[in-house]
Parts: sequence; C-alpha cells; structure tokens
Amino acid sequence: MADRYLSLTGTAPGRFLTRRLGLPQPAVLHRWSPDRPALDGPVLHLTAGPSALDLAPVLVRTGLTVTTRRPEDAAAGDPGTGGTRPAADGSARPAAAVLDATGVRDVDTLAGVHAALHPVVRSVAPSGRIVVLGAPLDPADHHQSAAQQALEGFTRSLGKEIGGGRTVNLVRLTDAGAAGSTLRFLLSPRSAYVSGQVIDVLAAAGSARQADAPRADPGRPLAGRTALVTGAARGIGAAVAETLARDGARVVVLDVPQAEQDARSLADRLGGTALTLDVTAADAGERIAAELPDGLDVLVHNAGVTRDRRLVNMPAERWSSVLDVNLASVLRTTDALLAKGTLRPGGRIVATASIAGLAGNAGQTNYGASKAGIVGLVRSLAPRALAEHGVTVNAVAPGFIETRMTAAIPLFLREAGRRMNSLAQGGLPVDVAETTAWLADPASGAVNGQVVRVCGQSLLGA
Ligand code: NAD
Repeated sequence: MADRYLSLTGTAPGRFLTRRLGLPQPAVLHRWSPDRPALDGPVLHLTAGPSALDLAPVLVRTGLTVTTRRPEDAAAGDPGTGGTRPAADGSARPAAAVLDATGVRDVDTLAGVHAALHPVVRSVAPSGRIVVLGAPLDPADHHQSAAQQALEGFTRSLGKEIGGGRTVNLVRLTDAGAAGSTLRFLLSPRSAYVSGQVIDVLAAAGSARQADAPRADPGRPLAGRTALVTGAARGIGAAVAETLARDGARVVVLDVPQAEQDARSLADRLGGTALTLDVTAADAGERIAAELPDGLDVLVHNAGVTRDRRLVNMPAERWSSVLDVNLASVLRTTDALLAKGTLRPGGRIVATASIAGLAGNAGQTNYGASKAGIVGLVRSLAPRALAEHGVTVNAVAPGFIETRMTAAIPLFLREAGRRMNSLAQGGLPVDVAETTAWLADPASGAVNGQVVRVCGQSLLGA
C-alpha cells in the first residue's frame, strides 16, 4: 500500500500546504542502490573528552572522506583538518558526524558532547548520520556511569529533533576494529530506517578484528556462505533473501508448501534453492539439517504470523498457533541446528522480534508475548552460542514496515503507525533486510545478544 502522504509532501504545493497545517514532514530517505551506494559527503570525526580509541583506520574503511575536528579546533572555530572534498552537490556539507565520547567520565567532560556537536549539527546533510561512540558503563564508577548513560538520553533526544531523514545512534564499544562492520553499516544508506538505537559491540574483540580484515570483494561479504531464511516467499523474508544474495550468499528460501510457487521463483531468480516446510513441524530442524549436509552459516528466523484478538475474546487456538510459529519453532529449530553442528563456527542467527514485543499492543497479547520471547531467547542464548559454537545470536525488531501485514491495518490506525516515529514514515522490507545483512556479516562477530529496532525511532516502546 503506497504511502500517499509521503508522495504529497514530496511535491512543492504539498509541502507548502502540510507545513502550513503543521503536519509531519517525512523526508525521502536515501537508501542503498547500486547507483548511490554511499553517503554523499565527508564524515566529521569529533571527540569529546580524552580518548584512547584508534578510530581513524576504521573510518577510512567506510570509504568516506574523513575530516578530523579536535576539541581545540571547535573552540577556535577552525573547520578541522583532513581531506575534505566537496560533496556530490558541490558543497562540502558533511554527510555524517562520528563523535568519540568514550572518554566522557563525568558531567564536566560530558560538556564536550555539546561543544563538539552544537556547531556542526545544522550542517549535516539530509539523510545524514550522527553516530555517538560511548564506553561500557563502569559499575565501580557512578560518575562515569551517569555520564555514559547520559549519552543514551542525548542520542534519543537528538534523533527526535534532528529531522530531514537524518539518523542518530549510539554504539558502545571498547575496540574500534571490532566495531568496523557496525560503523560501516551506520555510516551508509543501508541504515536509513535505524535511528535512536543503542548497540553494544563489546564481545571477542580480538577475533572480530581478525574477521574485519579487508576482503577480496568488499561488496560481497557473504561470498561462499549459505543462508537460510524462513518465511521468505514474500514480504520482509523475501527482501532478506534478496539482500543476502546480493551480498554473495547462497540462499535457501524456506516457506510453507502453500507458498511453493513464490518460494521457487524467488530462489530461481537468486540462484538459490527453495525448501517447502512448515517451521512448526516437530522435525523441522532435522529436515533443514538434512537439506544442508555441508552446513549453514546464516539462519534467519523470519516466519511469523498474527492472530489478533483481545485476550477476553481469544480462543486458546489463536494463542497457541501464534506462539508456535513465532517462538516455539524458533527455539526448536535453533536447538536442533546447534546440537547437530549444522550451524558452522562463525555462524550467525538473526531472529525477528517486533516493537509489539517491546511496547505491547492492544489485541496482540499472543503476538507481543511471542516477540518478547524472542528477546529473551537472544539475550540468554547469545553468550553460550558464541562460547560453545562460535555463533552469534541477535534480533531485529521491526516497527511499522510496509508489507501485506501492515496493509491490512484499518486506515486511521495505519496512518498513525506510519507517522509515529522520528522519520514520520513506515519502513520498507529492505530496511529490515539491510540490518539483517549487517548482523550476518562475518565481520560482525563482536555484535552479539543485541536487539536492534528497525523502526525509524518509533515512539512506541522507546
Ligand atoms: P508476511 O505475512 O508478509 O510474510 C510471512 C511469511 O512467513 C509468509 O511467506 C508465510 O507464508 C511465512 N510463514 C508463516 N507461517 C509459516 C510457517 N509455519 N512455516 C514457514 N513459513 C511460514 O509477514 P511480514 O510482514 O513479511 O513479516 C515477517 C516477519 O517480520 C514476521 O516475523 C513478523 O512478525 C515480523 N514483523 C513484521 C512487521 C511489519 O510491519 N510487517 C513488524 C514487526 C515484525
């Protein structure tokens, strides 16, 4: 279902009218395309407080021109040093700013955040990116914890006010090298609908840095890998399969037997294979393992259903069918594929939660429970799966995404769902797919146990 309001505000008279009426002004987002694969300008490297982070090599690998602006430059009104080149439109407007705030330890050094970003925030180009880098909270130092937690409130507030399709995210890290794939994702058009997120990149820094070594073909990070996506015949799952194939993976498109035709034509188009299977079958894990005797690298649990009804009117069957597809089958197949060793070391599991599982939603006690269960699964399994199998476990939590599922929502609720986020529009299946591809990247080994919302910073459950 097309977003007609977004089309209207894209015209001069529509923009004039909606501005006059004080209505939301969604920007047309810059998403990845082969013609426009990167942001259109330099990235500013800013610092607040003393920092020991070796960020420069990681920023260089984003492919963007880096301009370094030290705190003393800001104080002197100096534009900073580095190879700033004009942006595609002839201006040198930064397309992104990365603020290293890992050295912020108290309220005094926190002022450096304001000092660094206040002079430049207005200059960041539309659809630009602000990434704040923080440190893990130190349980032995309540001043450091207060100052670092303050970055979360700062990030989320700036995300809500910045507008123009710009995003603001916080990454907590200890080793810049381990966060390379995360910064490349956040500083690219691939993360167009990810805003207001706090992402911890704290695990296994050494091994992750090794995995982040430059590759023969950086455009195909999943070359030689096999990925299986459940519920991939249509909607978000189909976009995930396409995006993982774009990144070089051989994909297995899994869906129910009724969707066989769609699954096969997608698999044929992507040079992959189709597997028709109901994920709730007791032997689903065994059948997937039998289909993949050489093993699996990326497992995306995307299949999901809704059977909405308020609890007072909900028969047990509506409850159990949703819990079975969305949660129990995910637990069963994950357990089976880990136990059989089908998921190879270096493997990635990405499960699909929902903001309904974080914020709750009237009429969705079954769905909300199933999606919150995914969050519990991820948080508990992630450290063990990494330690015992070398496999990371993360979740994406989509907000309002333009699919058949959301097209079925009554008009007024649908309009509210679309606008109630910082980007004032619904996301596209490809936004969830790009986020999944980042988590599936072999270089994302230090991203584990995270629940990343793809919701344009939805006001729900924020
Ligand atoms: P969709 O209904 O368009 O597609 C779901 C796919 O899963 C279908 O192809 C369906 O046949 C398949 N499927 C359902 N039950 C299955 C089973 N038992 N075995 C195998 N395949 C099965 O849904 P979508 O909007 O693309 O959503 C995909 C995922 O994202 C779901 O987990 C959903 O809960 C989640 N999600 C979607 C939104 C949204 O706005 N669309 C928001 C939050 C979360």
